[in-house]
Amino acid sequence: MDNQSRHIVIAGAGHAGGSVAAMLRQLGWREAITLIGEEPIPPYQRPPLSKAWLTGQATAESLALKPVQFYSGAAIDLRMSCRVVSINRAEKTVALSDNETLAYDYLILAMGARARRLPLPGTDLAGVLELRSAADADRLKAALNPGSRLAVIGGGYIGLEAAASARALGAAATIIERESRVLARVAGPILSNFFQSFHHARGVAIEVDAQVAGLEGTGGRIVGVRLVDGRLIPCETALVGVGAVANDEIAREAGLSCETTDQGGGIVVDLASRTDDMAIFAIGDCTRRPLPLYARMGRLESVPNALEQAKQAASLICGKSSPLPEVPWFWSDQYDLRLQIAGLPFDAVDIAVRGNLDAAKFALFHLTADGNVQAVEAVNAPTEFMGGRRIIARRKRLTRAVIEDMSVSMQELAA
Ligand code: FAD
Repeated sequence: MDNQSRHIVIAGAGHAGGSVAAMLRQLGWREAITLIGEEPIPPYQRPPLSKAWLTGQATAESLALKPVQFYSGAAIDLRMSCRVVSINRAEKTVALSDNETLAYDYLILAMGARARRLPLPGTDLAGVLELRSAADADRLKAALNPGSRLAVIGGGYIGLEAAASARALGAAATIIERESRVLARVAGPILSNFFQSFHHARGVAIEVDAQVAGLEGTGGRIVGVRLVDGRLIPCETALVGVGAVANDEIAREAGLSCETTDQGGGIVVDLASRTDDMAIFAIGDCTRRPLPLYARMGRLESVPNALEQAKQAASLICGKSSPLPEVPWFWSDQYDLRLQIAGLPFDAVDIAVRGNLDAAKFALFHLTADGNVQAVEAVNAPTEFMGGRRIIARRKRLTRAVIEDMSVSMQELAA
């Protein structure tokens, strides 16, 4: 594509938006870039918000994607505390919350996702929090002190990480999960049981099969979470961590294809992060994208996905060859555990266990009926994670016996 005298507007200055702006410059885009973000701070990393930032082991500078001077130095017009409110595709313009209208040649939508709200009484009480932004994390951090009680509604990764951080700060934590095990949506039962026991041993109370009826308060402040079976889990703070919903409204209103079922939405894109309008790309948590290894579409809420799609969009706009599709991956830190996940366990019927669960150093390989490795969940096992990614990318077939045989090295397995 010719890149003379053109203007790229990026809506959303998060991990994907900040990264694509930098990549466009790296790949040779010399014309105007405007990066518009509704938060009052430059693009930053969210993963530490439930981990090192909560426990006080990360500084504000270490959260930033780039030092603030980077944007002016790279001639990226970063507008903070400003929203893109609508898109006019016919005119190729966007309207901003400060009433300005900007013309674009390419528009990159990178609006991320927001925490899913619970349609229950009491969610407006003081002390009921969510965890998506740095401002949310500051509120949660202020509430976690020795002796304080945190109820976490939702046993997903963010909930488990927040509970681990609460324990590190001396607060009591109870996880309330509707399903029969934590991580039910995202991991297999062996991993769920492992994390459940690990948290339990560190003083986290876990209520599974527990349906929340509502949040109860006194004088406008939460005092506890009421379960459908009548029990009250007393707390001063409740963190609602029940998933995320794509911020796709402006795309939807502009007539771009978006997921319509109740699966968190998402702007539909192809493997170059193009929407169905050739001038508009979408990247990061706000998208529903092809998962070529698994022959389906899906939403990936992860930093590696945000970076992969940023690279796809920047490469196409700058006339570079498309990057090869990557194996999706994700990580989570809880206590001294580093979990790394490669792939997605679609259609898996068996799990091979490599390593030692009791020593908290193992990897779980999810296998299809014909021996394809679909996903690898590795706890404190980086070699298995790296080898697993290669195996998944190559569609290599393995038997459970050979994976579990520790006398066969990971290098041999992945070769
Ligand atoms: P975001 O980073 O959410 O950025 C979107 C930005 O767009 C936001 O600043 C939003 O305010 C802004 N915006 C929205 N609408 C508009 C608009 N109309 N106009 C202007 N601006 C707008 N991933 C991992 O891989 N590993 C982890 O361990 C991990 N831990 C996480 C922990 C927490 C607490 C959270 C919240 C996320 C975590 N993630 C993790 C997920 C990861 O942070 C996201 O996948 C990543 O931030 C996605 O980047 P994004 O740019 O798509 O969205």
